[in-house]
Amino acid sequence: MIKPKKRFGQNFLQDKIIIENIISAINPQKDDAIVEIGPGTGALTFKLLKITCKLDAIELDRDLIDNLRNKSKNLGEIDIHNSDALEFDFNKIYKTQKLRIVGNLPYNISTPIIFHLLNYLDIIQDMHFMLQKEVVDRITAKPGNKQYGRLSIMTQYFLITEKLFDVPPEAFYPAPKVDSSIIRLTPKKVTFPTKNIKNLQLVVTLAFQQRRKTLKNTLKKLITEEQLISLNIDPSVRPEQLSVDDFVRISNSLENPNTENP
Ligand code: SAM
Repeated sequence: MIKPKKRFGQNFLQDKIIIENIISAINPQKDDAIVEIGPGTGALTFKLLKITCKLDAIELDRDLIDNLRNKSKNLGEIDIHNSDALEFDFNKIYKTQKLRIVGNLPYNISTPIIFHLLNYLDIIQDMHFMLQKEVVDRITAKPGNKQYGRLSIMTQYFLITEKLFDVPPEAFYPAPKVDSSIIRLTPKKVTFPTKNIKNLQLVVTLAFQQRRKTLKNTLKKLITEEQLISLNIDPSVRPEQLSVDDFVRISNSLENPNTENP
């Protein structure tokens, strides 16, 4: 019996129906280039491997590797990378087929893992993750929603984001203190690109530092009221009213923003 370790965010999936539902949502095909982050005790891994016949897995906890390797033996070919997903170079495992990344992610580092993966979008077909429900709600939130903010904009700029279904704490051992959800993230062609992603990050971070204030106040270090009006943006609205494209328009209007990174 493997004892879950808190420091690695180990909440192992144990609900067979939920596991089946996740596999159906991923809809793996034979020979897909699946990469699993955090295979743990293999709840998803072995089912995926049976279908795809080969799989890459990235697991930080060395103590889990032998068990994964032994139980995969007769199912297919598994390449286990005993590494930190936050530092993993996904180009290393890319051959000709785009990667399909999956994982029940350790919740304490799920957002940094997604931001790390944004560096590899040209080699990624799609991603399916179990995340804390609150994080999924923030990623998928639309303008006007109180969950809408920096995380929604920076992910929706690059990705189509779809919440698929919720998962209750009892589906895991040990049960986490929070609800979870499955999300699908698909890289998209950015139709209205920013000239400088750092400018976009700066505008969005400043705008949401005080989300109850109006744009003319939160962005006054970067842009005047008149400039906002000339971009067809009402300076008296709150940041949560703006679409991703509105933020891109603001960031593209900046020459060299004269503000330290907040
Ligand atoms: N996939 C398994 C399941 O669904 O039962 C385990 C999921 S558990 C929530 C998260 C897994 O990620 C654990 O196996 C943990 O050891 C692993 N992990 C934690 N931090 C990691 C990191 N930085 N890089 C790769 N794996 C990590």
